[in-house]
Amino acid sequence: MRVVLLGPPGAGKGTQAARIAAEYGTPHIATGDIFRQHVREETELGVQARQYIDAGELVPDEIVNNMVAERLERRDCEGGFVLDGYPRTVAQAEELERHLERRGCPLQAVLSFEISEEELVARLRHRAAVEGRTDDSAAVVAHRLAVYRRRTAPLVDFYATRGLLTSVDAVGEVEEVTQRAMKAIASR
Ligand code: AMP
Repeated sequence: MRVVLLGPPGAGKGTQAARIAAEYGTPHIATGDIFRQHVREETELGVQARQYIDAGELVPDEIVNNMVAERLERRDCEGGFVLDGYPRTVAQAEELERHLERRGCPLQAVLSFEISEEELVARLRHRAAVEGRTDDSAAVVAHRLAVYRRRTAPLVDFYATRGLLTSVDAVGEVEEVTQRAMKAIASR
């Protein structure tokens, strides 16, 4: 199953992506996690990405696209994948579409996680306290939400036009949301 999870920061994509990937036995590819690992290991990519991440900005498309293309080439993606946090711009979505078309294995589903802004801000505040992410401070969170609205939210229409989009109510217990997400995938 080749799936993309779409939704604002704090919608629970990471948690749900891990559960869906485990269920299908496919890799969970979270670009934010990959970047954070590069930052921790102080790789060249980490040094490039860090300034953007800490400011709540998007890492430039070309850097992200190359990193994801390389990851999707690995053998463990042959049976599918769950993409979490990518694509985040129309340019990334177009590049992903081209990449998968070349390989003859297009996306099968895009789940859009629906949640109110009030709920998001509360969750991100909680996550800041629990995980201590450098980009979960109040000012950076507000900026990340604005970036989401401007750059990523248009992907809802992009994928709806292609008949790939299914909305998932992201509010509720973790298990409840997982059940909704699995049902949405199964219905494709
Ligand atoms: P996340 O953990 O998905 O919230 O990602 C954390 C940060 O990593 C984002 O705020 C961006 O700076 C960067 N990032 C992750 N995925 C992408 C992407 N697809 N495009 C651009 N930047 C990204």
